[in-house]
Amino acid sequence: MSRIKRVIRPELLAQSAYHVQSSQGLLKLDAMESPFKLSGELLQQWLQAISSTSLNRYPDPTAGKAAKRFAEVFALAEDEGILFGNGSDELLQILIQAVAADGTKVLAPSPSFVMYETLCLWNRIEFVGVDLNADFSLNMPAMLEQINTHQPALIFLAQPNNPTANNWAVEDLQAIVECAEGLVVIDEAYYAYSDRHHLEWIRRYDNVVIVRTLSKQGFAGIRLGMLIAKQAWLDEFNKVRMPYNINVLTQATAEFVADAWEPLGLEAGQLAENRQELSDSLVELGLEVFPSQANFLVVRTAHEGALLCNELKARGVLIKNLCGTHPLFKHCVRITVSSISDNTLLLSAIESS
Ligand code: PMP
Repeated sequence: MSRIKRVIRPELLAQSAYHVQSSQGLLKLDAMESPFKLSGELLQQWLQAISSTSLNRYPDPTAGKAAKRFAEVFALAEDEGILFGNGSDELLQILIQAVAADGTKVLAPSPSFVMYETLCLWNRIEFVGVDLNADFSLNMPAMLEQINTHQPALIFLAQPNNPTANNWAVEDLQAIVECAEGLVVIDEAYYAYSDRHHLEWIRRYDNVVIVRTLSKQGFAGIRLGMLIAKQAWLDEFNKVRMPYNINVLTQATAEFVADAWEPLGLEAGQLAENRQELSDSLVELGLEVFPSQANFLVVRTAHEGALLCNELKARGVLIKNLCGTHPLFKHCVRITVSSISDNTLLLSAIESS
């Protein structure tokens, strides 16, 4: 035991591992996954795509075919490209590793995606969190002041933001990008559900890159994240990428997803519609629902969030308690928007709680 304490870094000893709630036997509405499974013709096409892979050889190290197909899907220009990660988590790690050095700082609004801060801790660089306003908008005087003071190498802006679900004012984002000496990473994990996208900004600004993921669009299981940027940025980030980080099954699945992009996109549209209906129904039940541009809702209850979470769990539904994660989340929980039938189950569980 004492050897473990001598060997492992003290800040890691003090940390707990990333915790995922057990979901066995429960309707899983805690992790922003899509409820839709592949079926029918699409399922057959996917089986066909993975059946032609060779498991005895290493995968293509650059996942070149999938990168080319997604470059077409996103209409990228010649000098732009895609670096894939084993989930966008790995890309965030790559970004942070590429800048990590004595004195380097990383900044993000707070609350935002928890891995920004965790990865800084792992890489021994200082994380600066700037609290959002009570309505989850950016506190712009504080943001600009902290950027000027700390000169962060990276600024993470999740748009829509997790866990608050909203997009920030476009003028605020522009002011941040224009004020930043370092790189601004716009993390568009939930872009499929949002009415605003920022891909164009990699052309407008030389200090912006975009991160996307397939996790929130029906493919959380394959772990595929994408860093979309000018090739000059990607050439540098590629130097801290693990060799062969995207396995053959994921590469084949990625090519299939690119080919099926339009029909799969309809599912995201369906969920965006369900979001409005679910939000309206929750308001009718007397709950406060914050505006959402993502596939989840932040809901304020009358009591501690844990109370609702436990009552729903007893009724077979798993959601996430946000209380205690940030002072702004008093009595708040986070609920993934799902299919109409799942949402109906959720609502009746809330009604009977
Ligand atoms: N960015 C944001 C804003 C997220 O919410 C998440 C996952 N919840 C991720 C990145 C990581 O996604 P993944 O690793 O599944 O691609």
